[in-house]
Amino acid sequence: MTPPLQPPQKYIAKLEEKTELNSKFIQFHFELVEPHTIKFEAGQYVSIKVSERGDRRSYSICSSPDIDHGFELLVDMEPGGLGCQYLSSLNFGDPVEILAPMGIFTVDEKLGEQELVFVATGSGITPFRAMIFDQLQRKGDNRPISLYWGLRHVEHLFWTEDFEQLERTFSNFSFIPTLSQPPDDWPLSRGRVTEIFSAKEVNSNNVGYYLCGNDHMIKDMQTLLQEKGVKPENIHFEKFY
Ligand SMILES: Cc1cc2nc3c(=O)[nH]c(=O)nc-3n(C[C@H](O)[C@H](O)[C@H](O)COP(=O)(O)OP(=O)(O)OC[C@H]3O[C@@H](n4cnc5c(N)ncnc54)[C@H](O)[C@@H]3O)c2cc1C
Repeated sequence: MTPPLQPPQKYIAKLEEKTELNSKFIQFHFELVEPHTIKFEAGQYVSIKVSERGDRRSYSICSSPDIDHGFELLVDMEPGGLGCQYLSSLNFGDPVEILAPMGIFTVDEKLGEQELVFVATGSGITPFRAMIFDQLQRKGDNRPISLYWGLRHVEHLFWTEDFEQLERTFSNFSFIPTLSQPPDDWPLSRGRVTEIFSAKEVNSNNVGYYLCGNDHMIKDMQTLLQEKGVKPENIHFEKFY
């Protein structure tokens, strides 16, 4: 049974750690100041106040709900707007104001789906990191679970060791990173996630498809999956932009 989601509330948190994973992605660790603990479900997000006049941006939590005294975010710096500028200018110890937990993009246990397929592009992998670790490590989910992750360039990959380690530990988990502009010696999957699914046989028998990333990918995947017989209630998605 999925527990009821907590109503969002205002929190003050402070920046504890900032890791530049590569030239595009930064991981942030915030510690809560007031209130000092939070209850959330894997897949939910925080809404951060990014300007004095009250502009806000949403960021999915990539850390485990087990960690209740703080949260981690993974941010794609490429858009370069207000949200990216605000976060990249933060110094250690700086306070941020958030509303959390937000959103309903969580693993839907009531449908009794027999298999879970996660499909992300770019920073869309963020909620899936929390969700997949939660399903496998905390909930002991033994259904087949796969993660397809599309990026353009090899130098922008991150967290691959974590997912490969998860693959070695849990025989029901598989990780399929795919590059649309791979180097010649890239040994794994090539092409966009939509191309992978268009070429492959899709199991439409009560399999949950979880999609996260840009609007374009989500629309294309929805159309493709439905053409291949997947019911709309088995397609769950979170659109980042
Ligand atoms: C529910 C939800 C969860 C989200 N979670 C994350 C997350 O975990 N990590 C993350 O990096 N972002 C996430 N986003 C996107 C994030 O909220 C911002 O939209 C993004 O950081 C850009 O904000 P900005 O102010 O820097 O740019 P803006 O000024 O808002 O936009 C600048 C330009 O970039 C385009 N753009 C906006 N977002 C993106 C994007 N993600 N990739 C490419 N181009 C973009 C815009 O269309 C615009 O042209 C999430 C969005 C939603 C709705």
